[in-house]
Order: sequence, then C-alpha cells, then structure tokens
Amino acid sequence: MPERIDLFADIILPLPIANVYTYRVPQELNDVLTAGVRVVVQFGKKKLYSGIVEKIHSSAPAYTAKYIESLIDERPVVQEKQLAFWKWMSEYYLCTKGDVMLAALPAGLRLSSETKIVLNETWDGDRATLNNDQFSVIEALDVRKTLTIEEMVELLQKKTVYPMIKELLEIGVILVYEELQQRYHPKYETYVRLADAYEDEEKLKEAFAQLEKKYFKQLETLMAFVHLSDRYGKKNPQIRKSDLLKTAGASLSSLKSLVKKEILIEEELEVSRLLHKQGEGKDLVLSVHQQEAFDKIKEEFKTKEVCLLKGITSSGKTEVYIKFIREQMELGKQVLYLLPEIALTTQLIVRLQKHFGEKVFVYHSRYNENERVEVWNEVLKNEPLVVIGARSAVFLPFAQLGIAIIDEEHDSSFKQNERAPRYNARDCAIWLAREHNAHVILGSATPSIETFYKTKDKKFGYAELTERYGGSSLPHIEIVDIKDATRKKLMSSHFSPTLVEKMTGALEKKEQVILFHNRRGFAPSIECQDCGHIPHCVRCDVSLTFHKHSNQLRCHYCGWTMNPPSHCEACGNVDLRMKGFGTEKIEEELQLIFPDAKIARMDLDTTRGKFALQKLVNDFEEKKIDILVGTQMVTKGLDFENVSLVGVLQADQLMNYPDFRAVERSYQLMSQVAGRAGRREQQGEVIIQTFNPQHPVIDCVMHSDYFRMYENEIVERREFHYPPFHRLIRLTLKSKDHILLDEAALHFANTLRSHFADRILGPEFPPVSKVRDEFLKNILVKIESEANIFSAKLMIAREIAALRVHPDFKKVTVVTDVDPM
Ligand code: ADP
Ligand code: ZN
Repeated sequence: MPERIDLFADIILPLPIANVYTYRVPQELNDVLTAGVRVVVQFGKKKLYSGIVEKIHSSAPAYTAKYIESLIDERPVVQEKQLAFWKWMSEYYLCTKGDVMLAALPAGLRLSSETKIVLNETWDGDRATLNNDQFSVIEALDVRKTLTIEEMVELLQKKTVYPMIKELLEIGVILVYEELQQRYHPKYETYVRLADAYEDEEKLKEAFAQLEKKYFKQLETLMAFVHLSDRYGKKNPQIRKSDLLKTAGASLSSLKSLVKKEILIEEELEVSRLLHKQGEGKDLVLSVHQQEAFDKIKEEFKTKEVCLLKGITSSGKTEVYIKFIREQMELGKQVLYLLPEIALTTQLIVRLQKHFGEKVFVYHSRYNENERVEVWNEVLKNEPLVVIGARSAVFLPFAQLGIAIIDEEHDSSFKQNERAPRYNARDCAIWLAREHNAHVILGSATPSIETFYKTKDKKFGYAELTERYGGSSLPHIEIVDIKDATRKKLMSSHFSPTLVEKMTGALEKKEQVILFHNRRGFAPSIECQDCGHIPHCVRCDVSLTFHKHSNQLRCHYCGWTMNPPSHCEACGNVDLRMKGFGTEKIEEELQLIFPDAKIARMDLDTTRGKFALQKLVNDFEEKKIDILVGTQMVTKGLDFENVSLVGVLQADQLMNYPDFRAVERSYQLMSQVAGRAGRREQQGEVIIQTFNPQHPVIDCVMHSDYFRMYENEIVERREFHYPPFHRLIRLTLKSKDHILLDEAALHFANTLRSHFADRILGPEFPPVSKVRDEFLKNILVKIESEANIFSAKLMIAREIAALRVHPDFKKVTVVTDVDPM
C-alpha cells in the first residue's frame, strides 16, 4: 500500500488580508497540484474563492486546515517567477499578496462565489454540444439572466462547479458580469464575396457576357474583384470592401449595382479583437546615430542590466527598440514593451506589426476581460512574442523575458496611485527583468531625475540620440510674457497677440495646431463677488469645477455634481464670477477667434468610451481637426507631420504646483508637447505663455537644456532630502471622524519617531484634506539609503499592524505609498 502523505498548500486569496492561508490537499490532488494553479477554497463561513497555490509543503499550520474544495486549472496560470514577483511586490510596496493578486489577474481569472455570470448574447455555437451540467446552467441563465457561482453550486448540488465555469468561459457561452459592463462593441468591417450561384464558372462567364454589352463600369468592378480573389488562393474568398475599392477599375456605384443584381454579396464581419496582421518582414535600417546608440547600449549591457536611452523626440528611439526586440525574438524570448496608456496608439501598434506581425499583442485597461485573458494565455504559451502595454502588462506571466522596454520612463502614469499595490511599473519591470536575467531599456527625451542620477552613479548605462531622424531641426521655442500683455490690455481672453498671429498663419497654410492646458472643465471655480465664497464639494475639500457642456459644477475628486447656483449660497448675492479657465473654455473662445477652424478637445471628459480617444487621434491624423486643445493627453503619442505649431497657454500653472517635482514635471511636459511640432523638414514653432518668463525652468525649456535643469534640480533634491538621495514612504491616515484622525495621526507619528527620529515628517493635512467624506493626514518617512529601506519597511508594517488592533484607532485606515509620485 502506498504511504499516505499529508500535504498542505499555502493559498493566496483575492482579498486584502495580511496572510496566505494554509489548506489541506485532498489525497486525489496530491499528484496533480502544483504552484500557480487556481483552486477553490472556502474562506470565512460560507464564501468560496478561487485562490492561487503559492507553495505546497508538509508542515501543518497551528489551526485546523480546511480541505481544498476543488482544482480549476490543469496547468498553472501564473508561473514561479510571478509568484516570486508578487512576494517581492507585497514586501516592497507594503501591501498584501491578495492586493497584488487582485491587480495582477484579469477579472476573468478571478472567480469568487459572488462572481456573477451572464449569457454571452453573441455566442453562436450549438447548445447540443454542451454536457448536462453545462446545459442546466445555460437554461437557468435563460430565465434568471444572471447567476452567481454560489447559486450555481446550489443549482447543480455540486461543489466543484469552477472547472465547468472555466470551460463555459473558454467556449464563450458565458461571460463574467463585470466583463459585460465593459464589453465594447465589436468592430465590424464590410466584406464582399461572390453570390453562391456565381461560384459556378459557367454562370460567372454568363454574367461577364451580360455586363460586357452594356454595363462597362460594372464589368470592370467585377473583374477587379475576381483579380483580387485570385490572390487569396482559396475558393470564393471574402474581400474587404475598402481593399476592393482601392483597386483600379472598381467603383462604389458599380459595386452597388452588382450587389443589387445579386452577383456580389456584402457582409459585415467582426474584425479580430487582437488586430492580427501578417508581418511584412520589414527591413530595418538604422541611421548612423541610431546604430551608434544601439552599439552603445549593447556595450553597457555587458556590465549593467539597465540602460537609459535619452533621445530627443523624433530621434527614432522606437527603431532602436525594434532592433533589440528582433534580436530577442530570434532567440525565442519574450518582450515587454511598456508605455503610458495614452501613448498606446494604433500608429505604434501598426508600426510594430510591420516587423513582428501576429507576434504583437496589446494589453491595457481599455481592453475588456476576454481580450485580457486571451493575451494572458498567449504569454503563458512561452513562445516568443512582444506585448505592448500600459502599466498592468508588467503582471503578465512571462516565462522567458528577454528584454523590457519602458518608453517615456519618466511618465507618472506608470505609477498606480489609486489603490494597492501602489506600484511603479517601471521599477517593477526592472525587478522582473533581473529575475529573468533580462535587460531593460529606459527611453525618454526627458528622463526622470532619479533615472538620470543612476546613470551618473554608474548604476544604469547611458546612450543618447541627439538628432531628429532625417535631420529635421528641433522646433523654435518662443516665450511670451502674458503679464506684460495683460497690463497693456493686448490679450484676447487667454491668447496673446503672438499666439493668435502664429495660429492664423498656421491655419492659412492648412497646418495643424496643438494647444496644451492642464486643466479640464470650463472654469476651476465660481466665486461670489461680494463675500468671496466659493462652492465646494460636499464630500471633498476642493472647489467645484464648472462644466459648461453639461451645465454642472463637478468635483474632480469624487465625481459629485450640482447645478450651478444662481446666487451665492453664503450671502445671497447674485454676482458670481468664474475664476480661472479650463480646456472647455479655451475650446469655446477659440471658436470665436477662429470661426472657420475645426476645433476639438482631448481630455478626460471627451475620451471616456473605449474608442473615443482613438477616434480623436484618427480624426486629427486625417486632418478633420485643425486645432486640438487638451490636457496632458496631447503631450504624448501624437506624432503627426502636419503639426507646425504648439501653444502652452499658461506655464505657471505647471511651475507653481506644490510638489517637489514641479520643476521636473514642467520641464518634461513642456518639452514633450513642444516635440509634437515640426516633424517634417520645416521647423516647427512653439509658443509658451507665462506670467513669469524669468523662471529658470522656462529658460531650460527654451534651450532644450535638460542637463541644466537636472543640475539645478539635483542640488535642491540633495539639500532638501528628496529622491534620489532619500527614499520616501507616504503614510496616509483616513477617517470620517477628524478628531479621532488627529489623535491617531499624532500617536502614529510619535511611534514612528521613536524608531526613525527626525526622518518622520508630519502629520499634516495634504492639500486636499478631505475626500469622499474621509479626512486625510499624511506622514512622510524619509530614508537615506537603500540598505536601510527594507528594515524600515518591516518596522512600518509592524506599526501599521499594531495600529489596526489598537483599541482606540481600529477605525482609522492607513494607506501606504512607497516612492509616491
Ligand atoms: P521617437 O520615438 O524618438 O520620438 P520615432 O521612433 O517615432 O522617434 O521616429 C520618428 C520618425 O522617424 C518616425 O516616423 C519613424 O518612422 C522615422 N524613423 C526613425 N528612424 C528611422 C529609420 N531608421 N528608418 C526609417 N524611418 C525612421
Ligand atoms: Zn468630491
């Protein structure tokens, strides 16, 4: 008789709980259970969750372990390296593994007993192929519309429904409810094919003969169709209508007639979600400078894992990346290519597809869960591929990463600020790459101070590209003093005479203009002219922004809205004035100055739908827009040759931002938006309007002098103990009770001081001290060296745990933000 072995498994649950829990492995799973698979376990009284097996061992925990209910996957959905990654992340970012799991796994892989299931209306398979249990579920869904997994367990009187749900999800009969809500409308395109009757050659000949007599245009179109069909090498292929119309001889009106005569048939077909295209095996010829940069990076990689490629906008950094990607793919490796969400445009995707065809995958938050799971599974296959994605792509289950590329590495959108883990995808990618013995290229025209410091410190390698590809020159930057212009009453609302004049010139030449202003809405606040009262959000400590289009005052922190008041809530006065201006107002005023121009706005408010952003980008590319006004979104990813002028409406708003990174940020944003101008032979122009033309950063932007900005900045950072010299951990305490909060914050800060002395700052109110009815207080920890950071974090974690069980302060929550941005 075989020996009976008692095995246990540590399971990561998709819950923000501090520990992993140990479960008993049922005998029948002893041989099949591996780390990285999903299993169903009971947690709490009744609830079932799918958790991930982290480790299998034979040491029984102190408590009576429950049995694992069932196994979902035959093969792991996360690999060993991801489990190590999750562990590191939870320690580095002071969060739980459950937090990491929630962020890492697409919802489609995160089933719990509360997960709701719905029918997939677009499934067109045959129900007869389903087994009994599957069929019962589908039948129940016909009637009930949604079922939770818990309800299915009841319905089928079985505990092991998860594997079946997984199958149904894979077949595509059902969807996870969350998915349905974000399900986008599939993309359709019109295709043309020959009507069935005309597949017969004789019949087709007859048709030709008929047309020849009278309908010459139609004959040509049909010939063009047949000609195209021949190239497909299969019988009666479907030809994309747009392709057909591009062919010589084909015309729209004659196509219509042929359809009417039922010789050709038009059909709407869904275009693949993953946008697959055949690669063209495009040649890659680097310029001399690009080749030098490539060689330099190679050289650096001999001794360093990470290399910065500092290249001005349009210098062709992407081409250099492509050469590295190709090299790795040929070695059979996988590639991670991270970039800010809004820079993820079809332009770039198509560019990469030209080289790597169907090996290019895209992963970002605008994709729905189905698509995310598809990409996830592709990566699991361990075949060479390149994933382009925004921050969450760093969680994909790579098995053999060859290189990670982080374009626009300085961009703050790589940092998750909203929920735990508050991770920086750039830093995580560097860790992950090290785990894989892979290299990392950080690319930017305006590197973060931290990254550039590391190149000086010889931790990172360094390569640069200092010329635009094709030798076009950098745009000419002009600074306009709007304080002076305002005093002389020369401004037309927010536009200086210089800006208006340049815009007029550009529009006359049919060139496009981009205007940047980092504030959305119409007016940031409304003020009473008598008593100075400003309407605030009822839940947050911020003034409400007026949105004219929706005629609402809106809170940009919590989304709360109210109708604009007709009189002051405080004193009853009716004389209310708008203060400041946002993109919406600029758009409106522009239309008055340039009544014939086509103006569009790109900000959070106009880009909510899945395709809204892409549509704006396309319209701009197709020159359906003359002037594009927008927030930060216009600073990235828009690479259009026809843009000759860029305007920054108020630089001060960036420079005066109350944050130690304000100078760095203003430099980056202004340089980046400037880089959108003049991408062809002719030099572009940039106008920067400011009340403070003497500000040092303005001069640095004007001369594209990153190094001077860096030198100034690094002195300040050293002196005031900021990164890269000190590491920051921000602890935010939250409570609805502000007296309790004050006490807790003081207590907590004092406790921390007993360990860290004067490296603790605060507690103090953040600039916005109440959000969604919760009061906030910040405590900042500054640690000077890397060596101390891990022990410091352990200490902090211990103190947070102590605060959680402190009898007076249990109700206060602590948010940890490591390396806040
Ligand atoms: P960056 O990423 O540095 O801003 P890009 O890689 O987008 O610059 O390059 C700018 C433009 O120059 C693109 O339109 C690109 O196609 C073109 N380009 C750059 N390098 C080459 C090259 N080696 N061969 C052909 N075109 C190139
Ligand atoms: Zn609010």
